[in-house]
Amino acid sequence: MNKKVVVIGSGFSSLSASCYLAKMGFKVSIYEKNDTVGGRARQLIKEGFTFDIGPSWYWMPDIFDTFFAAFGKKTSDFYQLDKLSPAYRIFFSDDSITIGDSMDKICVEFERIEVGSSKHLRKFIADAQENYDIAINKVVLRPGISPLELVTKETVLKVDQFFKTISGQVRKKFKNPKLISTLEFPVLFLGAKPSKTPSFYSFMNFADFGLGTWHPKGGMYEIIKAMHSLAIELGVVIHTDSPVEKIRVEKGKAIGIVVDNKSIDSDFVLSGADYHHSETLLDEHHRQYSEAFWSKKTFAPSSLLFYIGFDTKLMNVEHHNLFFDTDFERHAEEIYDEPRWPTDPLFYANFPSITDSSMAPDGCETGFFLIPIAPGLEDTPQLREQYFDLIMARFQKRTGQQVENNIIFKESFCVNDFLEEYNSYKGNAYGMANTLLQTAFLRPKLQSKKVKNLFFTGQLTVPGPGVPPALISGKLVSELIAKADK
Ligand SMILES: Cc1cc2nc3c(=O)[nH]c(=O)nc-3n(C[C@H](O)[C@H](O)[C@H](O)COP(=O)(O)OP(=O)(O)OC[C@H]3O[C@@H](n4cnc5c(N)ncnc54)[C@H](O)[C@@H]3O)c2cc1C
Repeated sequence: MNKKVVVIGSGFSSLSASCYLAKMGFKVSIYEKNDTVGGRARQLIKEGFTFDIGPSWYWMPDIFDTFFAAFGKKTSDFYQLDKLSPAYRIFFSDDSITIGDSMDKICVEFERIEVGSSKHLRKFIADAQENYDIAINKVVLRPGISPLELVTKETVLKVDQFFKTISGQVRKKFKNPKLISTLEFPVLFLGAKPSKTPSFYSFMNFADFGLGTWHPKGGMYEIIKAMHSLAIELGVVIHTDSPVEKIRVEKGKAIGIVVDNKSIDSDFVLSGADYHHSETLLDEHHRQYSEAFWSKKTFAPSSLLFYIGFDTKLMNVEHHNLFFDTDFERHAEEIYDEPRWPTDPLFYANFPSITDSSMAPDGCETGFFLIPIAPGLEDTPQLREQYFDLIMARFQKRTGQQVENNIIFKESFCVNDFLEEYNSYKGNAYGMANTLLQTAFLRPKLQSKKVKNLFFTGQLTVPGPGVPPALISGKLVSELIAKADK
């Protein structure tokens, strides 16, 4: 008889694992606390505007292709993918840099800022591509069980890059602060300061400049819809509005869950909810990691987000825009070193309707603004408004337009919502950072060491934060469950 797996949560990692497990022949049921699937990548549709609530950058298209190919499908079976041109624009206090959709265009822009820099850039990206190949084909496909997984003939030659930082590496060859910020930006997705991120992670720069920035028509939620329909096709049963209250353990073995006071039996339990929360569903003696363990970890930032509908088209902006017009170091210190509301934050603004008319009513613009902040900060309506006014003033100044009176829809999302909606530890937005001491086998494990047949997946375990890693995390854990079933 087919073994039964219950899966907690329906984010990218849970959906990925569920598809792989169903294909292997397991009977898979997902229990999601919210009323729609997708976790941090849910969608908000209001007054004709379509907002992706969470992720908006589609990077590493090869990982998505590989995922769907495992089921005999292509991304184009589900959604139309367009390469953005330009990829994005970075605003500084006195200028902006536009990142084109090819290395040639990016080199021209680098030369404009710093003569001679394009030669260094080509070499930097060629090295980053080597790291990408090693990372994607060797390192991230390991389940994070043993340090030996990191030892391959390729990584041995790069071992120094695990002990140097991306920040140091970039500064060796580039002097202009704008180019330095541009090259340090991609590793921010990994959740830590560039000065704490190993230089091996320059593979994110290859993902950025080498592979480019893509957009699924209709928004990132199209990927969730695709995975949802694939899961259903494979026989996965999905229950929404079903918060899991407990993971049941008998004689040291997971035997199911409790939802709405009802016991549900299973042979395996897999949680894709935040790892810290998942362990609180266990009696204390079954948990592997203490509160002290979690409190010492470097978490990726939380975010203050605004979903804005404008009744006009905006000028001088691209699909993706970074506002790096204030002190990067100071903002990073206020996230990581002395957590507090930032003095003058960097922020990100996304206007998908610039390239995709399906995302806003005619003549209107859909806007998403994100300020990274430390997890666990006090979150009040007054603070949210104060920061909205601050970034809107800067946004209007840098882009040379007055649009605050054109706002016809506005909603915000912050620490309290991350806690409430996702049971996120301290309201983190995208999990646990990938620092040297929080990489691979040093991250919380996919398989419980204390409870048999209990597994975890998602951005707090391996390989780390982001949509592509979540897809990989689901694959890795499905393989461990299959092994445990032997
Ligand atoms: C604002 C924001 C912007 C981002 N931008 C990008 C980006 O541009 N590109 C990128 O690649 N990545 C980005 N990320 C990161 C990416 O979205 C995440 O890493 C990824 O979606 C995490 O997926 P997951 O499956 O690990 O977790 P989640 O998506 O959090 O899924 C966990 C699920 O578990 C559910 N759950 C929790 N508790 C319970 C319970 N007790 N019972 C049942 N269900 C429960 C939650 O409701 C949720 O649905 C961003 C994240 C955020 C928040």
